[in-house]
Amino acid sequence: MTIKICKLCTTPSSRPRITFDNNGVCNACNNSKEKKKIDWEKRRKEFEKICNNIKSTAIKLNNQYDCIVPWSGGKDSTSIALKLKFEFGLRPLLVTNSPLIPNEVGNMNREMLLEKGFDSIFVRPDQKIAKHLSKRFFIERGNPKVAWDAGVNVVPVQIAVKFKIPFIFFAEHGESEYGGLVLNDESTKIRNYEEVIEHQIGDYPENWIDEDVDYKDLNLYIYPEKSEIETLNLKAYYFSYFFKWSMADNYDYVKNYLSDFRVNDSGRTTGTFTNFDSLDDKIDDLYYYMQFIKFGFGRAVRDTSRFIQNNRLTRDEAIEIIRKYDGEFPSKNLKEVLEYLGLTEIELHKIIDKHRNSEIWKKNEKNDWLNSWELKNKIY
Ligand SMILES: [Zn+2]
Repeated sequence: MTIKICKLCTTPSSRPRITFDNNGVCNACNNSKEKKKIDWEKRRKEFEKICNNIKSTAIKLNNQYDCIVPWSGGKDSTSIALKLKFEFGLRPLLVTNSPLIPNEVGNMNREMLLEKGFDSIFVRPDQKIAKHLSKRFFIERGNPKVAWDAGVNVVPVQIAVKFKIPFIFFAEHGESEYGGLVLNDESTKIRNYEEVIEHQIGDYPENWIDEDVDYKDLNLYIYPEKSEIETLNLKAYYFSYFFKWSMADNYDYVKNYLSDFRVNDSGRTTGTFTNFDSLDDKIDDLYYYMQFIKFGFGRAVRDTSRFIQNNRLTRDEAIEIIRKYDGEFPSKNLKEVLEYLGLTEIELHKIIDKHRNSEIWKKNEKNDWLNSWELKNKIY
């Protein structure tokens, strides 16, 4: 398999659903160029109208909360919560689907925002089931977060239905921000729940029933009935449609309100150069490492591409960073991750190797787990 890299950013063609134009530029870069033409003032006006509608709906329904924000406590969802409350006067209910292995930084950052005057619901599902599913999907699919991914999407919708709050604000539309399938402009603004439920992110949690898991154990991973969502007339917006999306800008925005907002306590996150992104779950380092195993690129590629698109890095600087950090083994939280998954280190390495894509990896003469594989074509 020949892997090519985007001429503008660092994204390789092995990224799922990425496409390249005739000039060798990826669709994430082209989307980002298109976004530079957007009249953001106009979008903001549209957003203000939506906020007015949300407020009057809450009065009509006699609701205590105007909307729900799925909230990890990280810079992105925290910046949304702050904007909604202090710039647009909404009263959001923050809903957190617990990280698999929470860490101190995430806990502290969440606490800091709550002190600014927010209500939140922290949902931590049955850990016997969560660990079982995490281990199972790590073994079967090389991804310990398959079930968590379902939960993070489902839980805010369940809370919306239970509290009868008909508006949710999701952060970014991943497919248009990072390269993927964009159905139409409307699909980057509002999440179509009929579509979501029909496709169930390519997976049906109902199928996860096995000898250890029964249907009721999967409650927090399965969407409410379609009829309940329709009755509520639920609308879920993507914040990134209305405001220019940049993780570095979001971080700066949060720091303005929460000067003590914490970043990765080791200076940078494993596998990359940033210290402020996706740092509330100790299993994340393994999750990103598995992308490197399956597709040959890791977190530094992902982060530098976004930084290039937002004019915060040159391509040469990015490649230097990638050579230094990409694909770094997740040794930092390894002990806790192994405990969580109920695996020994050797078992972990065997599972990792099982998921190596043989089109991009070759085995060498070395005998240790970490250095016995190399990429067939060094693309960076
Ligand atoms: Zn690109």
